[in-house]
Amino acid sequence: MAKTRTSNKKPEKHLPERTCVACREVKGKREMVRLVRSREGIIIDESGKVSGRGAYLCKASGCWDEGLKGNRLEQVLRCQITPADKKKLEEYKNRL
Ligand SMILES: [Zn+2]
Repeated sequence: MAKTRTSNKKPEKHLPERTCVACREVKGKREMVRLVRSREGIIIDESGKVSGRGAYLCKASGCWDEGLKGNRLEQVLRCQITPADKKKLEEYKNRL
């Protein structure tokens, strides 16, 4: 049988880890949702490709509550979260 080729071209040797802004847990990027500040407001960046200042939240509604409750997200993103943004985030949270 063909021997398994060991590729040394794997960029994801160690998975990128991110800290949740709410619970401060460090998790793999895939377990988190990235939020990015933009001129149009907060973008929920599911692809992880939007450039800009980002914050991460676990895919757990509790963390979203926590992030939205105070001004934690605003502090991390250094911007104001508008009522429209908040609504968008709440809606996303409800679908988690
Ligand atoms: Zn969390």
